[in-house]
Amino acid sequence: IYEHTKSHEWYEKAVEVIPGGVYGHLGPAEGCFMPMSAYPLFASKADGAYFWDVDGNRYIDLMCAYGPMILGYNDPDVDNAAIEQMKTLNCAVQPGTLMVDLAELLVDTVEMADWAFFAKNGGDVTNFALMVARAATGRDKFIAVNGGYHGVIGWTQGYGAPGVAKAEVLPKLMVNWGDVAAVEKLASEYKGEIAAFIATPYHHPVFEDNVLPPAGYWEKIRRICDREGIVLIVDDVRCGWRLDVKGSDYHFGFKADLECFCKALANGHNISALCGVESLKDAAASVMCTGSYWMSAPQMAAAIACINKMKTIDAPKICHDYGVKIIDRLTEVAKKHGFDYRFSGEPSLFYHRIAGLDGKEDPNFLLHQAFVGECVKRGVFMTNHHNHFTNTALTDADVDFIGEVADEAMGVVRNKSREILAQA
Ligand code: PMP
Repeated sequence: IYEHTKSHEWYEKAVEVIPGGVYGHLGPAEGCFMPMSAYPLFASKADGAYFWDVDGNRYIDLMCAYGPMILGYNDPDVDNAAIEQMKTLNCAVQPGTLMVDLAELLVDTVEMADWAFFAKNGGDVTNFALMVARAATGRDKFIAVNGGYHGVIGWTQGYGAPGVAKAEVLPKLMVNWGDVAAVEKLASEYKGEIAAFIATPYHHPVFEDNVLPPAGYWEKIRRICDREGIVLIVDDVRCGWRLDVKGSDYHFGFKADLECFCKALANGHNISALCGVESLKDAAASVMCTGSYWMSAPQMAAAIACINKMKTIDAPKICHDYGVKIIDRLTEVAKKHGFDYRFSGEPSLFYHRIAGLDGKEDPNFLLHQAFVGECVKRGVFMTNHHNHFTNTALTDADVDFIGEVADEAMGVVRNKSREILAQA
């Protein structure tokens, strides 16, 4: 059973000089994570499908750095491309020509793309996408889905969230995932006022089972957007490259107007991209949007190497197949111990939870939380509230290890279940 003594010593130091110590979703945010005692807070190194914490414990990383790691940590093809590029041109007064190479590669690879634009984080391009939609339509309002995550900038957050001007959130009209009638209703209520509909390719909220698009959903949304002149933005920051290298809109059989990529785009090198259709190119060029490091060359070299490798090895298929293997193994183990185990979403980004024991439901996530904590303490890194990610560096031996750890963890949770459920 892993100890996290050094992690917690470093955390004590961190909170003295950094607000929140480890902030955002990577830290022990209130209400999000397992008990801190189960959880490492600082990593010391990473390689392939694993990372090590500062106490020297090794983990199979089923969060893949929350998505960026798709080919395994320290992929030599991607990292060498970045290192070689760094030696000649890094962050300079002008971009390197490989910015054009990367845009061409995206236009050739991503089905909907006629152009590409580069930034650093997912939130940079979801925000740029909304700006492009507003520039193209001259409208302010937009529709988003309850529980969808698009970053941290004002409009992505809730009305009244700390630090967010209410005026930034007001143009946002909310619907529930899958509810086409609600989109229709808003489109007629605010006719001529809605710039964009923004959503992830399927619904992957936290603390909730994930939901694939209902039959005909995207076709209907596409039709409403076409009819009303609304720009259809697909936020593919999380799913991108794990479902189809041609884009997740292609995977689900429709065409986005703007598609946002980040995470797996360069296997951990910091770059994001917005791809768009021809009719929005002038609007994109009209928007003032840039950043200190947005045109740095090494990350572009990394993205080129990563995209080429993902295409060559068919990374989405490998990620899918390992997702299926892991889910099958966990289902088998859960059955043996009498747990009601459910998974949802796509296998390469599976969401799972223990929903009950011996036919009795656990609506409070307590059994699942305990299970995840016991797995983390034994070297399988998961979270209790978020979808997971698979990568191409996993092996069948890793799946066996995950199965063995889950077996032990479920045994422990089963034995302590009365105590655990009494916390409700
Ligand atoms: N959209 C989605 C769907 C995401 O999952 C994320 C990151 N979790 C973002 C946008 C924001 O990306 P970033 O944190 O890189 O700004």
